[in-house]
Amino acid sequence: MDRVEFDGVTAEQAIAEIRSQGGRRHPGVTGYAEHAARMYLESHQRGEAGMRPVRELWVSQRLTRSVVWELYAWGRRYESVDGRLREFRFLRQGDALADGRDEATAIAIAAYVAAFGNPAVWPNPWSEPFHPSGRTGTERVRVVSVGLADGVVKPLFEGTAADVEDYFAEHGRSQVGEIAAGRDVVPGFGCADCKRVAVCDGPVRTPGLLGLDDSQGPLRTVSVSGLRYYLRCPAQAYLRSVHLPRAYEYSGEAELGQAVHAWLEEAHEAGPDGCRSRPLPPLGSGWSAGTWQVTGDLADAGVRMLAQHAEVCPFREAPEIENVRVEPRLTVFDTTARAIVLAKPDLVYQEAGQWVWRELKSTQKATRFFTDPLRQFPQLALGVVILSAGALGPGGAGRVELEILRPTGAEIVLIDARDDERVDTARTVLRELAAPWRADRTFEARPSNNCQWCPVSRWCPSYPGPHVEGKDHDSRAKPATAFEQ
Ligand SMILES: [Zn+2]
Repeated sequence: MDRVEFDGVTAEQAIAEIRSQGGRRHPGVTGYAEHAARMYLESHQRGEAGMRPVRELWVSQRLTRSVVWELYAWGRRYESVDGRLREFRFLRQGDALADGRDEATAIAIAAYVAAFGNPAVWPNPWSEPFHPSGRTGTERVRVVSVGLADGVVKPLFEGTAADVEDYFAEHGRSQVGEIAAGRDVVPGFGCADCKRVAVCDGPVRTPGLLGLDDSQGPLRTVSVSGLRYYLRCPAQAYLRSVHLPRAYEYSGEAELGQAVHAWLEEAHEAGPDGCRSRPLPPLGSGWSAGTWQVTGDLADAGVRMLAQHAEVCPFREAPEIENVRVEPRLTVFDTTARAIVLAKPDLVYQEAGQWVWRELKSTQKATRFFTDPLRQFPQLALGVVILSAGALGPGGAGRVELEILRPTGAEIVLIDARDDERVDTARTVLRELAAPWRADRTFEARPSNNCQWCPVSRWCPSYPGPHVEGKDHDSRAKPATAFEQ
């Protein structure tokens, strides 16, 4: 967009440039970037005439003796020829409709710098303060977001400078103070890009968690689901990991599984006997939990599964349970593999001081599992290794439990996290999954029948179309060159 708006290059030329730089990024990302550029340009053509693009950032700056305060927003900027109207555009990775609470703060900051900021070029080096100059502020401000997947423009704010002042007072001023104080540590997806990760105590350091001896290359983020996606298709795993917009990917069965999880999560959050005191959804009427809805036969199967849970609930008759965490988001830093590992067990708790990690699986299939559960469900292997490494905090390693709920019964599979053989096997399972993922620098597509259910196939140049015969289609993508993730 900079090339089009500031350098006078045509849209087609700019898109051709995106393509010609392809070797430096994944072809799926290039596909998405092309689409996003077209969508943005289309949305732009529908916009108001007489607005000119602004290259400089709008910066609101305050200098004290010891601190430089600077406020600016990421997005694209436009102003009317007479300078009385400024428009700020957020670019949204997916569709234009988004978010809740945090969005108001982002809007407040964008509106504030548009209303009161000065133009300033990005400082070089970036550690230097901005040098704002030129026209200060404007009379009217508009803030919109543009969805890069669908090109829809969503108005977020429009008003005078005085309106902006009010909006910022409510949604921005104290929030900016909180952000600047930065006391909360929220490890997770952001860690791999964070400059402070080496000194931060947010992610729990667990060298060797994934079983690799060493590794090179940039820090990467992964979960067990990510490694399973990788096994199916490296390109799918990669395009998911960079958060490209995804098509809806849940079958009815998967929706049911999510609803059962959500129902039990809500119940257990209410207290140890929450799942027994909460009335089950009635049969024959459909039900919902969290953001998931189920209807018909699936809904009834789900009610029967929930009814089976009471028999195997960890809180049933265990007075020694403490430190219960329902669906905690765990972030572990394997410094050897150079990987931030994310996990979300369904439940962890301490029983007589020992940590227990529980995963829940709901299924309508009557068949039992015959292979080693650590191999069949690698998230159990991750649980064993995390417990054995003591990464959940003070307390001993206990066991990993797999709770299997069927409409006709419940079952618990127990894995002792103090058993050396189990720990070794868990480590082997993780190493076998993680080693090819960690060594991969191209994440080539592996087109197959799975493509028809792949939620990021839209961006993948190797997508063979909806009708694939057989499993071993050759990739239609150009031979990939290495790029840095
Ligand atoms: Zn329960």
